[in-house]
Parts: sequence; structure tokens; C-alpha cells
Amino acid sequence: MKNSNAWVFLFAGIFAMWFCFSLRLPPFIFIIIAIFAFMIGASEAKAEQQSQYEVPYKPYPSGPPVVASAATAPVELPEHKMSVSVPADLKCPSCGASIKPTDTKCAFCGSSLRPLIDLPQPANLASLEIGTTTRVSYEQFTDAQYLIRGRLLYTELWQASRGADVPWTPTGNHFTGFVLDQDAYLLNWQSRFYILTKRLALSDTDINRDFLPSAKQFAQSNQTANVEFSYSGLRWHIVDIGRFAIESVEGEGAHLSQGAIGRFIHASSGDLALIIEDFQSGGSGGQDTLWQGYLIKESNIHS
Ligand SMILES: [Zn+2]
Repeated sequence: MKNSNAWVFLFAGIFAMWFCFSLRLPPFIFIIIAIFAFMIGASEAKAEQQSQYEVPYKPYPSGPPVVASAATAPVELPEHKMSVSVPADLKCPSCGASIKPTDTKCAFCGSSLRPLIDLPQPANLASLEIGTTTRVSYEQFTDAQYLIRGRLLYTELWQASRGADVPWTPTGNHFTGFVLDQDAYLLNWQSRFYILTKRLALSDTDINRDFLPSAKQFAQSNQTANVEFSYSGLRWHIVDIGRFAIESVEGEGAHLSQGAIGRFIHASSGDLALIIEDFQSGGSGGQDTLWQGYLIKESNIHS
């Protein structure tokens, strides 16, 4: 019973009783007024209760109803860091050289700086810097030189146990993705390293049709089953699925924004890698994307 006329009438009833009483009107008059007001109030309240039951449930025209599961469980993130916006153009107060908001020391003059943002340290590839080039070898004979344009810091999320009411929270692990020129992306996740060279925007329909059934099967086996699916003429083996939040975005060219929360599927076909990034529709900060590229070793990445 909220935002309703019912309260107005109920209070009017109480007020009428007090009013008549204080004016010493004959008792039958105030009893009639009060009963009248209470009856309207009660019927308003009843009407509203009924409308509350009638409105919300609208079954989706086709397909099964949405079942509460780990996939729909809430995500709980520490509040302090996710809302930081990184200034684009910072200068060293001593010498005026360009610095990064995370720098503790000026690379040009060596003076100590108080970092503007205390970003967590990624598990790997901490030495790669925006604005420098990196050489990545893959596919036995390919050796490509890339300019690092941007850096995304991922927060790994997990659920203590599977279920719709178990929130997803940070594991404490952070991994990095590097935006490279030539539309490439270098990604580390746990002990895996990927150079991704092909990118495709996906729709929810694409994901539900091509990848979700296999991902569900993999999830239900606690990620132990050998689950394969066909895509683009190849058989892909699911390696990992999970959730992430984007902790920070630095530099330029990033395909995700800070605070984006998504799910991923990592699959492989030999040395080939396929990565799905899936975001809830309704603007959680990212475009559903399929990446294709290669699984490489950390030693294939040269700063
Ligand atoms: Zn300086």
C-alpha cells in the first residue's frame, strides 16, 4: 500500500474523529464521518493490493521462463575503486614530462610521485607500458610488432558456491588486456596468454544460439566436462568460463568501459583461440564480442 489514496482516506478518518471530538459534536455524526472515510480507505487499499498481483508477471512470448541461476546472481564489488575516472593528460610537477596516473616515479626526471590512482597490480605482464611497442611471436613463423595503445585491468570474479542467491565477488586476482594497433588485443587470463587478431560483434541471439548451451553444460559439470562446439568450420573445446569486471581503462582504443561486468567463454582448437565476451543487455558497459586469435606463451611476448 504505497503512493496511494488509501492512506489519505485512512488519515482523513482519524482526523475526522479528532475534529468532531474536539468540537464536541454529537457522537453519531463523527462516527458516520469516520466510518465513511475508513470504508473508502479500505476499499482503495484492497484495489491496490489486487493491482499489485496483476501487473508484474508477463511471460516471455516464446521459450521457457527465466530460471534463477548462477548466471543471474548479483555481482558485489568494492565501491571505492570502480568509480575512479582516470585523467587523460598528466604532467610531472617537477619537469613537466607526461606521466601515468599510476606512476610512483617520473620516468624522465626520476622524482617520486604520489600515484593518483592506486591500481592493483596485475598477476602478469606488469612491465608492458602504453606507448611502447611489443613483439609477439605466434603461429611458429609469425612475429608481429605492435604499438600498445591502451590497457584494461580485469577483476576476476567468483561465486563461493553455485546458485542464484550467491553473489559474485572479486577473487583478488587481476589480469590485463592490452589494446594494440592493427586492431589486435593481447589478453592474459590466469596462466593463459592470447593474441587476438580478429573481432566480431555478437548479438544476444548469436550467443544464446551458438555458445550458451555448451557453456551451460560446462558450468553444470563444474568446468570438468569435455565440452565441444562447432563454430566457423572448426571444433572448439571449452577451456574456461567465468565473470569479470573492468577495474580500470587507460590509454585509448578500449572496447570496454570501466565498471563493465561481463561473462566470458574461452575455447580452443589446437593453438587457435576463441573468446566470447558477453554483457547483459541494457548497458552494463560492453558490446558482446567474439575474438579469434592464438593461444601463446608468456615467453612469446617481448617488451
Ligand atoms: Zn619528472
